[in-house]
Amino acid sequence: MTDELPRTDAAADAAGDVRPAAGQPLLRIEGVAKTFGSFRAVDGVSLDIKAGEFFALLGPSGCGKTTLLRMLAGFEAPDEGRILLGGKDIAQALPHERPINMMFQSYALFPHLSVRDNIAFGLKRAGMARADIATRVSEMVALVKLEGLEKRKPDQLSGGQRQRVALARALARRPQLLLLDEPLAALDKKLRESTQGELMELQRRLGMTFIIVTHDQEEAMTMASRIGVMKAGRLDQVASPRELYEAPRSRWIAEFVGDINLFDAEFKLRDGHRLVIGTGGAGTLVVAEPREAVGETRFSVAIRPEKVKLSRRGPVSEAGRETAINRLDGVIADICYLGGTTTYKVKLDTGGMLQASVANSARLDVDAYSLNQNVVAWFTPDDCVLLPS
Ligand code: ATP
Repeated sequence: MTDELPRTDAAADAAGDVRPAAGQPLLRIEGVAKTFGSFRAVDGVSLDIKAGEFFALLGPSGCGKTTLLRMLAGFEAPDEGRILLGGKDIAQALPHERPINMMFQSYALFPHLSVRDNIAFGLKRAGMARADIATRVSEMVALVKLEGLEKRKPDQLSGGQRQRVALARALARRPQLLLLDEPLAALDKKLRESTQGELMELQRRLGMTFIIVTHDQEEAMTMASRIGVMKAGRLDQVASPRELYEAPRSRWIAEFVGDINLFDAEFKLRDGHRLVIGTGGAGTLVVAEPREAVGETRFSVAIRPEKVKLSRRGPVSEAGRETAINRLDGVIADICYLGGTTTYKVKLDTGGMLQASVANSARLDVDAYSLNQNVVAWFTPDDCVLLPS
């Protein structure tokens, strides 16, 4: 595998630019499918990517993210569907004929070349002048913070350093579309966060289009302007990070993206733009009427933990905000201190368990709750999202 990958990665170094017509997407994926044996790894994906977008493909391991990326780069051929770049079908274009570059999860570096020569490889192949190569390579080395390591070979680097060389090499030719397969997975938390910021800044500055594959939802939320969530070879929802988090389309998405309280629910009565629902575990709740139908009588209600307020005595009124519509009594059953926030599990008198995430705004724990303490939890009708069950 590693013997083969450097060749393909180098081959993927960018070719000529494509200019989509006004109002047209840079990339159009139309009903693309890929089957390995009898297993449908990608199952009819359609998606438009605009020039200049930072798009994240998010999904659990094995859902088909890498396979989709490899088809965009030209390392796999789709069994069905079309991939259009700037309006042209690129099915016949070899990887190096596409203005697309891919950074592989496995780094795919040339073991016999130094850091500097690995980064310079695609530039040399493209016939760039020596002086320009030197400047560009230095820029890239600085970008990924590898100064001083330019002469090392890949086996003299840590995993994280190798990944940064791969990133520098993928960026060096400033491809129009850069595909990044888990590019930051091997970096420690601090370096990953700073590299996320640098990647976003670079993408904005160069006006490049990025598609990043990740199974880390925080990473997708931080970096991407739009996220496509994949499940079993299909795109389940494509939305902005905020929409995905605040208005998930399904129970599965709601649970996959962040923490959430979910209760089975059934319709009781309508009260203007509000619905009164009965839940399994959280009693009767008042919720805002959803924009889309979620089911005749049975559905789920979802409430993010940070929307749940806690107090010792009862709801605190907030000026200009409706509060205390849904008030639930309970007792603290579990406490998880996370630094910036504390997550409390509240055993409700109505039988269910409700998670509340509370910001630790004071350094001393004067406001903290203790185990077995009686509390009141509350949230507004607008904090509740109804989902198909
Ligand atoms: P991960 O996050 O773990 O990298 P992924 O979402 O990128 O996962 P893919 O690598 O696209 O998933 O794989 C999707 C499915 O297709 C997996 O079940 C995988 O085993 C299978 N698969 C991928 N490539 C091949 C292949 N060449 N032959 C057979 N099966 C394959």
